[in-house]
Amino acid sequence: MTPTTRLSENEIRPQELMSEQQRRFANDIARLHEHVTRFVGVPCPSCGAIESRFEWTKYNLSYVSCTSCRTIYINPRPPPDVLEYYYKNSENYAYWNDVIFPASEDARREKLFKPRADRLIDICRRHGNEAGTLLEIGAGFGTFGQEVTRLGFFKRFIAVEPTPHLAATCRKRGLEVLEAPIEKVALPEASIDVIASFEVIEHLFDPSAILQKAAALLRPRGLMVVSVPSCTGFDVQLLREKSSSVDVEHLNYFSPESLGHLFGRSGFDTVEVQTPGKLDAELVRNKILAGEFEAPDAFLKTVLIERWHELGGPFQDFLAANQLSSHLWLVARKR
Ligand SMILES: [Zn+2]
Repeated sequence: MTPTTRLSENEIRPQELMSEQQRRFANDIARLHEHVTRFVGVPCPSCGAIESRFEWTKYNLSYVSCTSCRTIYINPRPPPDVLEYYYKNSENYAYWNDVIFPASEDARREKLFKPRADRLIDICRRHGNEAGTLLEIGAGFGTFGQEVTRLGFFKRFIAVEPTPHLAATCRKRGLEVLEAPIEKVALPEASIDVIASFEVIEHLFDPSAILQKAAALLRPRGLMVVSVPSCTGFDVQLLREKSSSVDVEHLNYFSPESLGHLFGRSGFDTVEVQTPGKLDAELVRNKILAGEFEAPDAFLKTVLIERWHELGGPFQDFLAANQLSSHLWLVARKR
């Protein structure tokens, strides 16, 4: 087994900053609920089926699962203009951008963004994709953009980032930036070789619309690579609404199958699924240690608590290798 770089939750979410983050997040949620009368019912964001069953309530929002494809989604949900208002006024987002991301950037760069750039290039090599133009939807701080550019694999990197101060940071870092939502990006059709989007489509009211736009921008047989939290991974399956992956901003929780279905109906064929997560076991362990969750059986208590130092790492590697982590990557090829 290949040894993996270990990552701990505290490195990317420093504990001393998280209580202030929680306070701000509570304000955001209250602000969102002021618009509750405008929330709309939607079909499954993956397969379009109407029928769903109730899963849980969190933050006064209702999470349902699609009875045909198992996607878990917030329904009813805030319409696009309310979401735009939410992000524009989010105290939580401002705090992440101004405080948490800068404070944890070195760890994030080493442990998240460098491996992310390596993984993407490895995927492109294995699928024989030309190293032409890479476009990233939701480039954020541009850390991934810097790392992937530094590796010199792609001839051109385009950062698509609609949030003004994030776009400004990307520009300061020397990246080519399109400051617009992807739907409004005016690039020639079939001009992009690879499109990447990390932890974005779970936030979208209508993810299929973005994938259709991506399909139009990609050249035939171009690749799209996305990462999302998965509803069938270890920490989400166990913790359900107690999982920190389950938050008000994540409207959609796909499984490997249902994400493939979504790509299928947006003009893509799935070529690879990976779950390279590093944190599932520790996230569940931390909830048990904090008294917020009880280990459901003696086996998990042994692995996650009693013999953690010896078994925690190999157990996480097992989850990652068998599509059982909640950190899901999907690679799809435009038809
Ligand atoms: Zn469905």
